Amino acid sequence: MNAPAARNPSLTVQILVALVAGAVVGMVLNPFQDQTLVQTYLVDGLLYVVGAIFVAALKMIVVPLVFVSLVGGVTSLGNLTVLGRMGIKALALYLFTTAVAVTIALTLATAVSPGEGLDVGAAEVEFTGKEAPPLTEVFIDMVPTNPVQALAEGNMLQIIVFAILFGVAVIMTGERGRHVLNLFADLDAIIMRMVEIIMRLAPYGVFALIARTFAQQGMDLILPLLAYFLTLTAALAIHAFGTYSLVLKTFTGLSLARFYAKMRDPAAFAFSTASSGATIPVTLRTVEAKMGVDNSVASFTVPLGATINMDGTAIMQGVATVFIAHVYGVDLGMTDYLMVVLTATLASIGTAAVPGVGLVMLTMVLNQVGLPVEGIALIIGVDRLLDMMRTACNVTGDCTVSCVIAASENALDRTVFDDPDAGSVLGADGHGETPDATHRT
Ligand code: ASP
Repeated sequence: MNAPAARNPSLTVQILVALVAGAVVGMVLNPFQDQTLVQTYLVDGLLYVVGAIFVAALKMIVVPLVFVSLVGGVTSLGNLTVLGRMGIKALALYLFTTAVAVTIALTLATAVSPGEGLDVGAAEVEFTGKEAPPLTEVFIDMVPTNPVQALAEGNMLQIIVFAILFGVAVIMTGERGRHVLNLFADLDAIIMRMVEIIMRLAPYGVFALIARTFAQQGMDLILPLLAYFLTLTAALAIHAFGTYSLVLKTFTGLSLARFYAKMRDPAAFAFSTASSGATIPVTLRTVEAKMGVDNSVASFTVPLGATINMDGTAIMQGVATVFIAHVYGVDLGMTDYLMVVLTATLASIGTAAVPGVGLVMLTMVLNQVGLPVEGIALIIGVDRLLDMMRTACNVTGDCTVSCVIAASENALDRTVFDDPDAGSVLGADGHGETPDATHRT
């Protein structure tokens, strides 16, 4: 039981191995999909159950974690001016990076012209667009009429608003509020421990999720859409490694190599679950325990980012718009491009942090520039894999902005950031944890 820690590969390594092994096993299983044994018992049986349990366990922890952590964060700030300033900075940065993301997507897609010469007949799947909620509703909806319902439904923006108000009231209540404050600090430590327990299941969960996706998808779906797939992948990579590096270096001067090394866990979780919402526990833990961002910042920027910051999704919408325009032979003018930047940025705020929603919100962008919504049917086949990649990009953005805001608020512990082993959860024996890494000040 108490084997030396060094003999156990770190959890991050285990997760990465699981990811690659899952992809390989999935691709091997793909040709055997019509076999009952493979399909019913393995793909839709074992792999499905293990993957679904893992995602359910992650989601289970999101609502209590965000609520408890955010109340703790607000109360530890002890100052409403700081909260307001942080809110404005976060919003500005999240919107700015998203606008840059769509611009990269549009520039690259226009240069590469994916979709030129593609037969429209390829759209075999029907796609009926859903009405995207108007932006006014998004704002009104932020205030919960019933906070219990907001918690029960996991409505992140509503939970954020309620938790902030609750935290503010705790500060204003003075002495009596302090008891509640201590209670929340203790609860937070317990819930973070729960996150670590769930993370230990990750290698199995990640393996099952990835193996099932690859078994179902197969590579042949991608071939006819290769140009679209590659353009989108390139745009995501440019943004994830270029834009964020620039932002991080300019505003914080932190080591980029270290940042990306520490991004491995949340990126792997985001990739395998395709949900930045379900990844919140891992993102929050990484940002706090591994990158040294104080809870007062992270508890606010991470859930907010997971909800409104969707750079990867906006990139998909940019590339998809140009692709669909090409397929249908529609010429987009400068105003159309600006319209796409604006709507994709705003749409990303309204995009729920769950798999596939970005595609639904694409309806809004296409409508805006008068493109046929049915065009979405063309790309739906390859969307799952791309969803995984763009979610990893979304989460990288959340972590970047969290570090930038923490640095600007003097709430970044650079010694934690510079320590490669900070906050790492090691293998089965439990060594290597940093019990105090999540300790609130
Ligand atoms: N799956 C994405 C996320 O959760 C949203 C999307 O683009 O569909 O971040």
